[in-house]
Amino acid sequence: MIVKSNPDEIQNFLVDASNFKGACDSVFFPENKKDIISVLKSANNTRTQVTVSGNGTGLTGARVPQNGIVIATDKLNKILEINANEFYAWIEPAVLLSDFQKELKQKNLFYPPDPTETNCFIGGTVATNASGAKTFKYGSTRDYVIGLQVILPDGEVIDLERGKQKAKGYDLVLITQTGKNISLQIPDYSIPDVKNASGYFVKKDMDAVDLFIGSEGTLGIITKIKLKLLPQPEDTISCVLFFDDETTALNFLEEARDTSYQNKKDNVNDNINALALEFFDERALKFLAKDFSAIPENAQAAIWFEQESTADTFDAILEAWNKLMQKHSVNEDIAWFAFSDADKEKMKDFRHAISWKVNEYVARNNFRKLGTDVAVPDKSFREFYFTLQNWAKQSNIDFVSYGHFGNSHIHLNFLPKNDEEFNEGKKLYKQICEEAVRQGGTISAEHGIGKAKRDYLLMMYGEVNIRKMAALKKSLDPNLILGIGNIFSKEYL
Ligand SMILES: Cc1cc2nc3c(=O)[nH]c(=O)nc-3n(C[C@H](O)[C@H](O)[C@H](O)COP(=O)(O)OP(=O)(O)OC[C@H]3O[C@@H](n4cnc5c(N)ncnc54)[C@H](O)[C@@H]3O)c2cc1C
Repeated sequence: MIVKSNPDEIQNFLVDASNFKGACDSVFFPENKKDIISVLKSANNTRTQVTVSGNGTGLTGARVPQNGIVIATDKLNKILEINANEFYAWIEPAVLLSDFQKELKQKNLFYPPDPTETNCFIGGTVATNASGAKTFKYGSTRDYVIGLQVILPDGEVIDLERGKQKAKGYDLVLITQTGKNISLQIPDYSIPDVKNASGYFVKKDMDAVDLFIGSEGTLGIITKIKLKLLPQPEDTISCVLFFDDETTALNFLEEARDTSYQNKKDNVNDNINALALEFFDERALKFLAKDFSAIPENAQAAIWFEQESTADTFDAILEAWNKLMQKHSVNEDIAWFAFSDADKEKMKDFRHAISWKVNEYVARNNFRKLGTDVAVPDKSFREFYFTLQNWAKQSNIDFVSYGHFGNSHIHLNFLPKNDEEFNEGKKLYKQICEEAVRQGGTISAEHGIGKAKRDYLLMMYGEVNIRKMAALKKSLDPNLILGIGNIFSKEYL
């Protein structure tokens, strides 16, 4: 097993895409399960802190170590099995999402979770319960994980299959490969009924698989993943619409969202039934204008939608969207329609560019990312959006807003130019999180908590529940070595 300690060689592991920075003694690159067990056992004996690393595209500092060692999963990167008849795959955690998607496409299969950044490891997406544009129709990573192999901090291995190991009420017993029984008390806090990736997933009678999804490298190291697959859709329609005012854009989006929900429920596939419904505000469009010269100069908002289609349904679907566009006076002459694969990729580049450019701006100016990841119930979203816009505009700090508005989920990113603006942005960020919680929403819908958002999680669930999460973690990691500092700070352990 390769172990690197040279500062130049390990530098890359001391940061993630949020520009959160850390330190460690060395980075281990295990090649198999046995290597991981041996590193963990030794760390457990010496009480050395271990941080698990995926591909570092996370946005909360979760894979960034504060000290101790890093276990980099990079070499566990094999697709073990793709079963096209039974629609599942077994993979190792460091399979790149983009590689997996390519492989599946060739086999006419489809894996819906699509965090905008496809340069992530699937292990990382499971550990953060990542979502993406397609979550609007298909849900988050959690909905596609049907089995996991996890190595616990003491080197014990558990194999989990969805439906097979369930809690009785809030009591869960895990049995390891060596036959050791571990009794866990599942916390009883309730999770908001919105898209959510904040803290441990808990539920009465919950499935053990769900405990590890979204646990951000704090409960064990995921070494094998079984994923549910779907048939590849025959085709997709992809379109970006530009609006003269935000209110019209939101009216359009809400009608498209509600119609899609209804048609999904009724299984109607020849009418509006969107895969993705994404939004960009005026500032986000201006931020992108240099790279995408076709963005109309005066556009105040844009919506990107995608929908699956077949040769039979294509015309009817297009007609339904056209009708909706006419109803909301959308100027079709300036809309972007993508029918070829190449054009669809350009649309994806457009969506990816806004997230990527914001991260790049933040890193260039040497600040930590100050981007909200809040979601609220659909009924509160419009007012919530305008409240956030007003607060941000009053602050005089540059910002851009965009996100998965179909899921009532917004990324409002502050772009501070100096420390003073950064500190003011932090106060506003807290205020936005408080408002999201007040509305019955979440402070993180998809990126997770990591080290950057612990204070807001505390605000969301309160100290008593954070202590319950910490107690759960302690039952699996009594020597407190794994992913310390993620989700809650050490003082709770
Ligand atoms: C431009 C851009 C756009 C993005 N857009 C989205 C988006 O739309 N939706 C979204 O959800 N996310 C988005 N992200 C965030 C990011 O892509 C996800 O958080 C991703 O899921 C992390 O994967 P990773 O391999 O990079 O993990 P890392 O960042 O390396 O690690 C993330 C966490 O997973 C843990 N971990 C990694 N591997 C394992 C393992 N094998 N076992 C246990 N724990 C493990 C780490 O300890 C850490 O806690 C975006 C990021 C960027 C840069």
